[in-house]
Amino acid sequence: MSTGKKMLPRVSLPADARLETLALREGLPPSQWGENSEALYLTSSFVHPDAATAARRFADEEEAFTYSRFTNPTVLMMERRLAALEGTSGCIATASGMSAILLLVMGLLKAGDHVVCSQSVFGSTIKLLQDVMGRFGIESTFVSQTDVAQWQAAMRPNTKLLFAESPTNPLTEICDIAALADIAHAGGAWLAVDNCFCSPALQQPVKFGADFIIHSGTKYLDGQGRVIAGAVCGPAELIQAKLMPVQRSAGMTLSPFNAWIVLKGMETLAVRMQAQSERALQLAEWLEAHPAVARVHYPGLKSHPQHALAMAQQGGSGAAVVSFDVIGEGADALRANAFSVIDATQVCSITTNLGDTKTTISHPATTSHGRLSEAQRQAAGIQQGLIRVAVGLDHIDDLRADLARGLDALKNRA
Ligand SMILES: *Cc1c(COP(=O)(O)O)cnc(C)c1O
Repeated sequence: MSTGKKMLPRVSLPADARLETLALREGLPPSQWGENSEALYLTSSFVHPDAATAARRFADEEEAFTYSRFTNPTVLMMERRLAALEGTSGCIATASGMSAILLLVMGLLKAGDHVVCSQSVFGSTIKLLQDVMGRFGIESTFVSQTDVAQWQAAMRPNTKLLFAESPTNPLTEICDIAALADIAHAGGAWLAVDNCFCSPALQQPVKFGADFIIHSGTKYLDGQGRVIAGAVCGPAELIQAKLMPVQRSAGMTLSPFNAWIVLKGMETLAVRMQAQSERALQLAEWLEAHPAVARVHYPGLKSHPQHALAMAQQGGSGAAVVSFDVIGEGADALRANAFSVIDATQVCSITTNLGDTKTTISHPATTSHGRLSEAQRQAAGIQQGLIRVAVGLDHIDDLRADLARGLDALKNRA
């Protein structure tokens, strides 16, 4: 380094190491004990050899660990590994996916700035932007997930951030990341993409021009439904200059234990995403042929309105979340039919989490999207007959049999 600043060591890996290899090995070199599995550093602070060294470290003249609100070796290993997978130079871990979005907004924006956001993003993201950031003078406009012209029309001179998520929950709508990046950059704004549903194993938004990537580590990065975690990936200089000072002052910190869980979870990310996506495609094809199913929403199906775009952005994969509408007439009958299919399962976990190796099943209209009014749900296309399945590693025959139980009964009643 030309600055003469003393930096932390790096793992030595070939420059062309592939994602699967980086997911196992990027991080920090092992400690003096040579452990092969990464150590868990559960410590709140770090000891310095003398007062002058401590002063240099706190003045940022020497990169070192000082206090785990903002520097910890296990958390740094997770950050370096995730940055390597996303193809960004920097990453900062946070306590949850939601605090990753909060940190991004607090780091990049100020009162008077404007955000353009898809109306189909995660519900808490809309609440955070509209209700919380709105109180601090940051205004947001919500536009169609798929209509690029609406994003363009919403741009203002004070627009600093475009926020997207693809595919969305639960209808798996796809946005054109490259088109949104062009609109953002032409207007002097940044594009952030929430990459929860695909993870970097399937989709790397920076390749399409995104500036920042949001992760809920709670989902596929952990992959086994154990912890709440989050991260922002992006250019190291911007993260250091704009996000790190907020993290240092505000403490939206990821605990080293949770970072270690996510770090180890990432080691199997690529094989899990592949196996879960394969099962999801098989399940989606089977559902599409079932007489008690009115419609299937899955980007891997040719019937999906943005199938070609999804295949281009997601490395040819539809990812692992499948939603479908059951048959029925009227909201009450649709809800009763959906509940009967969910309640007939013996394998799927009835829970709203996703990204778990255990397949989960949920009824969006009364759970994740229950806080919306019926009119808002209709506008978003979320009917009472909609069921979401986040496909895990259960055997595909068991999953089909699990859903057939309720669906066959519906078909026989119809
Ligand atoms: C779950 C989720 C979040 C929020 O993450 P938490 O870790 O629960 O805070 C954000 N975006 C998407 C797409 C999610 O699925």
